[in-house]
Amino acid sequence: MKGLMQDFPLTLESIFHRAEQLYPDKTIVTGGPAPQRVTYGEWAARTRRLGGVLNTLGISADGRVGTFAWNSARHLELYFAAPCTGRVLHTLNIRLFPDQVTYIANHAEDEVIFVDRSLLGLFLPLLERFETVQHVVVMDDLPPGAPSAVAIPDDPRFHDYEELLAAAEPVDFQVEDENQAAAMCYTSGTTGNPKGVVYSHRSTWLHSIAVLTNAGIGLTETDTVMPVVPMFHANAWGLAHAAPMAGANLVFPGPDMSPQGILKLLQEEEVTLTAGVPTIWQGLLPLLDGAELPKLRRIPCGGSAVPQALSEAFREKLGKPILQAWGMTETSPVATAAHVPARYTDLSEEEQAGLRARQGLPLPGVEIRIVEPGTTNPLPWNDEATGELQVRGPWIAAEYYRPDEGVQLNTDDGWMKTGDVAAVDQFGSVRLVDRTKDLVKSGGEWISSVELENLLMAHPKIKEAAVVGVPHPKWDERPLACVVLQEGESATGEEILAYLEPLVAKWWLPDAVEFIDEVPKTSVGKFSKKDLRSRFAGYHLE
Ligand code: ADP
Repeated sequence: MKGLMQDFPLTLESIFHRAEQLYPDKTIVTGGPAPQRVTYGEWAARTRRLGGVLNTLGISADGRVGTFAWNSARHLELYFAAPCTGRVLHTLNIRLFPDQVTYIANHAEDEVIFVDRSLLGLFLPLLERFETVQHVVVMDDLPPGAPSAVAIPDDPRFHDYEELLAAAEPVDFQVEDENQAAAMCYTSGTTGNPKGVVYSHRSTWLHSIAVLTNAGIGLTETDTVMPVVPMFHANAWGLAHAAPMAGANLVFPGPDMSPQGILKLLQEEEVTLTAGVPTIWQGLLPLLDGAELPKLRRIPCGGSAVPQALSEAFREKLGKPILQAWGMTETSPVATAAHVPARYTDLSEEEQAGLRARQGLPLPGVEIRIVEPGTTNPLPWNDEATGELQVRGPWIAAEYYRPDEGVQLNTDDGWMKTGDVAAVDQFGSVRLVDRTKDLVKSGGEWISSVELENLLMAHPKIKEAAVVGVPHPKWDERPLACVVLQEGESATGEEILAYLEPLVAKWWLPDAVEFIDEVPKTSVGKFSKKDLRSRFAGYHLE
């Protein structure tokens, strides 16, 4: 017997319409040198006119609409105008190397790119290598006459966003098929070419609902949400869809991503929920002494392991620990979150801190398993057995967009291969051990770089630490600890190793400690192990 309910499509149009109709008075603030404040009502009217702009520009029915932009209200207009007129939003990562940006724009076949004026200097040299781009629309995010403003070329392909919008007619939105593509994001491609993930209306809708649940991020209408995570990094982790769905106020940093700029917005706009990668919160930490943020209640953080010491520092300074979440561009991205389950709430803060350092439980809708690498044999959930983490669910990618030969994202039995190595406890809480490619392989046994980094970053003199495998004549690879000391501190390698010695198995102890000025970062602000590995490729270990 079949259920007898309406077959109603889950589309972004319904999220948009909800914000427009139910929350027209809620606000969207954009920071930076030319700050802006609009209501959802004004934003919705502009978004409908932007739909008209896409028609006037002649963007094809499912054409890719590229963005090269900071987090802003205008970017949010594109987030809805493109998919709600059947087009596909494609957020380009502004921090990638030129070769990667051009590869991605050409691979996705972007027809138009919307660029922030403050990024024009970066963008213009790329233009001639874009093979399919017919229009460039400039969004002026600088004050009039700003000395840093790059002149808009006298070229018929270039348009001014506000001029186009003023001349456009508003359109009715309608999306019939929930499985239609809504947006695409490319992974930064630590190996091989960047890979395109194509989200559907349905996957985005369901992911947004899951983000709103308490098992997810727990975002509500009473929140003021500031996504510091870029809108080009896996759709700002779903917050740019979930906030309008909930009717929450939004705050975007615009081009000012400095710790001072972020703190100012958190305070002035009384932000209650803000999200970003660990390096963002690490950067904010020194400013928090004496800072008052009484309204801030939740700080979701992921993209790489959240050091326990960082989360604890936030708890000590603000009374709010960080909420760790795990995911990938391929998982929309939020797939697990580390809320402390009720059974553990009587534990001491220290014990709970250990639980928060895990990646946590799958969100409703997501299923997980760990398997022996290269097989589909599930491993037990005893927090000891480690294997490849695999996931499945309605917002997990089934395949990449036009993948390179031989790239297969899912197993034959329908689970997505994450490339992460994890253990799972008896109640399903994930503890990520490492990325497969970052594990240090010593004499045939694996050493978790993540665990060593977590311990190192709890040392009071250490600001950042990254552990990489370097070649060893006998053991194949051995761990090298690359350490950045806190400003004004000094330490010796022996001192650091003596601190680690009682905390880890003897054979896990790094063979050497290198003091460096800074851990290199990827385009989305994660530690770039790839850069460190090549820097220390010739490192000589005895
Ligand atoms: P990229 O592969 O370009 O970094 P993603 O942002 O999609 O792009 O990265 C996903 C990866 O980030 C995951 O596979 C995992 O290795 C890592 N990651 C994400 N969240 C966490 C977390 N909370 N703890 C540890 N690693 C994480």
